[in-house]
Order: sequence, then C-alpha cells, then structure tokens
Amino acid sequence: MLNEALQSNWIAPAGPQLELFEHEFRELIGAGGALAVSSGTAALHLALLGVGVGPGDQVLVSTLTFAASVNPIRYCAAEPIFVDSEPASWNMDPRLLAQALRDRTATGRRPRAVVVVHLYGQSADLAPILEACQQYDVPLIEDAAEALGATYHGRSPGTFGRAGFFSFNGNKIITTSGGGMLVSQDEALLAHARKLATQAREPAPHYEHREIGYNYRLSNLLAALGRAQLPFLEERVQARRSIYAYYAERMADLPGIRFMPDAPWGRHTRWLTCLTIDPVRFGCDREKVRMALENENIEARPVWKPMHLQPAYAGCERLGGEVAEVLFAHGLCLPSGSALTRDEQDKVIRVIRNCCRA
Ligand SMILES: *Cc1c(COP(=O)(O)O)cnc(C)c1O
Repeated sequence: MLNEALQSNWIAPAGPQLELFEHEFRELIGAGGALAVSSGTAALHLALLGVGVGPGDQVLVSTLTFAASVNPIRYCAAEPIFVDSEPASWNMDPRLLAQALRDRTATGRRPRAVVVVHLYGQSADLAPILEACQQYDVPLIEDAAEALGATYHGRSPGTFGRAGFFSFNGNKIITTSGGGMLVSQDEALLAHARKLATQAREPAPHYEHREIGYNYRLSNLLAALGRAQLPFLEERVQARRSIYAYYAERMADLPGIRFMPDAPWGRHTRWLTCLTIDPVRFGCDREKVRMALENENIEARPVWKPMHLQPAYAGCERLGGEVAEVLFAHGLCLPSGSALTRDEQDKVIRVIRNCCRA
C-alpha cells in the first residue's frame, strides 16, 4: 500500500489512501464517519471546536490522563475542570460527573462539553456518563486514543459521544508514526472539521477564507501506513492481552500487587499492563520497583500524573482527585509492546519478585 501510494505519486496531502483509510477505519470500529488528521491532539481540538467550545467556556475532563487530553481545551481558550477516576476502571467517575453537571446547571454555569478518556485500553463506564450528558444537554467527546480495539457492551468506545478520536502515535497499538482519527455520527460536524483541518478554504477559484483554519490533515502516505496495519488490530490486541495474562499469572502470589481491574462492561485490550503496589504489603514502594527495573535497563513508567497536580494546570477547578492521586502514587505501567518476548517478560517479573519482602 505504501508502494501504491508512492507509485501513484500521491505524496501530496490528500489522495485516495486517505479516503480508503477513513472508510476502512470507520467500518472496522462501526463509526458514522471518520476524518484522518495529523494527531489525536489535532482531532480533539477539532472536536472541541465542533461542539462549540470557545473562550471562557468550561469543559469537564478526566484528571487521570495524558496532557494531550486537556491541552486542546486551552487551545480554545477554555477552562478545564478535572474529574476524578473511579476504582473499577480508573476512568472518569460517572457519579462525580452527574453531580457536577447537576450542580453547575442549577447555578447557571453549565459546562460546554465533557471529555471522557478511555485509559490504557479500557472503556470508561459510558452508559451513566452519556445519560448525565444527555440529561443536561452537554456534548460528550471521547478520548479513545489508547483504546482502539476495546469494547463497551460490544461496541467500540469513541463511537458513543457526539465525537470521539483515536491516535496513531508511535506508542499506540496502530501507528503511522504520527496521526489521529476523528469520528462522529454528525456529518455536519465532520464536514466542518474537514474544512478547518485543511486551512478553512472556502469554495472559490481563488483562496477565500472566512474563518481561521489549521493544517491538520493526515498525509496520504501515512494513511497508507495505517491501512496496512488495520487488518492486524485483532492480532495485536490478542498479543497485548496475552502479555498481561502472563504477568498476572506469574505474579498472582505477590502480596500487595493489584493489576488494573477488568471492568465488567467490555473488553480491555491491555494496551499497557498496569498495576498498583501497596508498599506495606509488598515490602517496598513503586519507586523502588521502578528503579530496580531501570537498573536492569527496563523502562517502566508511573501511571499518568493527574492533570490537577500538573503545574501547567495549577489553579484549575477539580472534583475529587484522591482516587487518581493514589493511582499515581502507587501505579506502574510495565513493558507491554506486542514484540515483547517471554524471556523479556520473565526478566521483568524476576526483578519485581526480588523487590518483594515476602
Ligand atoms: C496519545 C494520547 C493522546 C494524543 O494523541 P497524539 O496522536 O499523540 O496527539 C491523547 N490522549 C491520550 C490519552 C493519549 O494517550
């Protein structure tokens, strides 16, 4: 497909690979429509603009996430308000969200949008989140950047809200080195996003612009890279799940180790295998374990630092935050790439076991 893209001279920004990638992606995950863009971050920016987020607006967003789930809110000159996680999935707590929407609507400060994040390959509990958003008529945007291949009651997260997006960054389950996909059932939203993503040109023979656009379209060449990988999504999900299963089985006896839960509502891809370490029961804390791994040249990272603790977002409002703080304090993401060998996994497990007091 890459050759096809090269040979057909379609290295220009738009071209047939791009449309085929959008079409095949949309079919694969069951989305209404899809727009391929240069990153997940760009997709979120377009989604926020698409639901009308503007200067001074408030947007409720998961606190336990990567900064890219929040930064585009600031690109719109809007204010993020951070919502804590719930322990069952580590994702946005639906009860906190419903309460916030109720209280804020009652006092005339209804948020302009909600951004829910599906972390580490697992869907948030979408039904109560959607219900709350519908009740207060606030559009829901889904950050499914880490959740391609996951399900929520049999359907792909990202396809439930007004808009959703995925990422094809280098570390994601499918990668075009950089790229993203905006999905939505709302044809008008997608059509406008397509225009904004390509410098907002008006239909005219000359270059006419009524609004400020962006250069956010994915290139035809990278779309070919994405297309080549779509058929292997299921295989990659199975590989990640099998890596998780092996870690879980070989560390089941360790006291104080808890893997990220499997919520009952769908399939967790285990894009990353994450766990928490109770320092009292395990005998040493997460940082000791992380450094022991680092000494063996094994990279393991703490779970996302909550956005309400980030200096860049100091002073922003938040709802709860303790659940996310505990996950950050004790959480660790283990090496989980689909190419990881059993020998490499055994080494990770050995190092962790050696840290255990028991
Ligand atoms: C990777 C990621 C993004 C951003 O995607 P890019 O394609 O890197 O811009 C957004 N949110 C989450 C949760 C991510 O992990």
